[in-house]
Amino acid sequence: MINIQPFGTMPDGQPVTVYQLTNGNGMRIDCLSLGAIIQRWILPDERDIVLGFDSVEAYLADNAYMGTVVGRYANRIAKGQLTVGAQHFQLPQNLGAHCLHGGTDGFHHRLWQVHIIDDSDQPSIQFSLTSPDGDQGFPGTLQASVTYHLDNDNRLSITYRGQCDKDTVFNPTQHSYFNLAGHDSGSVLDTRLQVMADHYTPADADNIPLGDLRDVTGTPFDLRQPQGLHDKVHSTHAEIRAAGGLDHNWCVNGALLSERAVRHAATAWHDASQTALRVETDMPGLQVYTGNFIGAEPLGKSRCHYQPFHGFCLETQYFPDSPNNNNFPSALLKAGKSFCSQTVYQILFSGND
Ligand code: BGC
Repeated sequence: MINIQPFGTMPDGQPVTVYQLTNGNGMRIDCLSLGAIIQRWILPDERDIVLGFDSVEAYLADNAYMGTVVGRYANRIAKGQLTVGAQHFQLPQNLGAHCLHGGTDGFHHRLWQVHIIDDSDQPSIQFSLTSPDGDQGFPGTLQASVTYHLDNDNRLSITYRGQCDKDTVFNPTQHSYFNLAGHDSGSVLDTRLQVMADHYTPADADNIPLGDLRDVTGTPFDLRQPQGLHDKVHSTHAEIRAAGGLDHNWCVNGALLSERAVRHAATAWHDASQTALRVETDMPGLQVYTGNFIGAEPLGKSRCHYQPFHGFCLETQYFPDSPNNNNFPSALLKAGKSFCSQTVYQILFSGND
């Protein structure tokens, strides 16, 4: 079922609403019309496993993209330089010289239209917006939507759709910070993580991909068997030191095949609470981010002061800077064509899957 409550007000007076999706197991996910944000993910034992804020003001002041849908292009585009066909576009350089997460005023701070699709014990809700031609420098008027569907297998299925009147790029993601012990329980470094990837995209000191796909064998990026996050973020590997922890893109096995299919990308385990999070996606990339830069945000929910490594993100997406790397899967969305992609986050309580 879906319960609807006021959440707050935008600076121009428009209301922000929270939609509380509850399944038949008593699991609840609260989503905001602001940024299509996942504000709470409450397990039946009342643990809230995502970081977030209690007010619109805090979300608008946040630079960590907590719980938001990121667009038009998640992750980095080098020097904000985008070429589509023969045309060149300059995007905002909001991360040093580079464009991050769709520019200064990305989708995460927008008010989305909301449509309830299914109000049952396996609820479904769609958030949509129109991004005008030239929005943050990107070409074409883009119609974008995100559907959240919570089922009785404790799966949140996310469907991203897009259509544009000009050739453009589109690469949305969900930027929830998970802490399976509870958002207010401190470090996530006791989490174990498995990533189903034989390759990752090595990057320079600015975290811009070098362009090759590198075999993970013999490197700290080999997460094909579950690994504790503590040892990973404290690795002496130059790329991990440069990023202050994990903030890297893995190439999901099978994703480079021409057939598009939803595949197992990663599983995270919190052993003490016997809770696991399994991620499946039809996107080729998974950015694993261990919350290395958390700390400058406003106080979190219930005045919680989040610190580095208090949450981790598993962001499904095209590879970073794919528009400037012809050998990466293409994020090009041709005029009039439909983009549709699916990512599933599932909570498992056995501790094993
Ligand atoms: C990026 C990080 C960034 C974080 C918050 C992640 O997706 O990879 O570098 O700090 O988002 O913006």
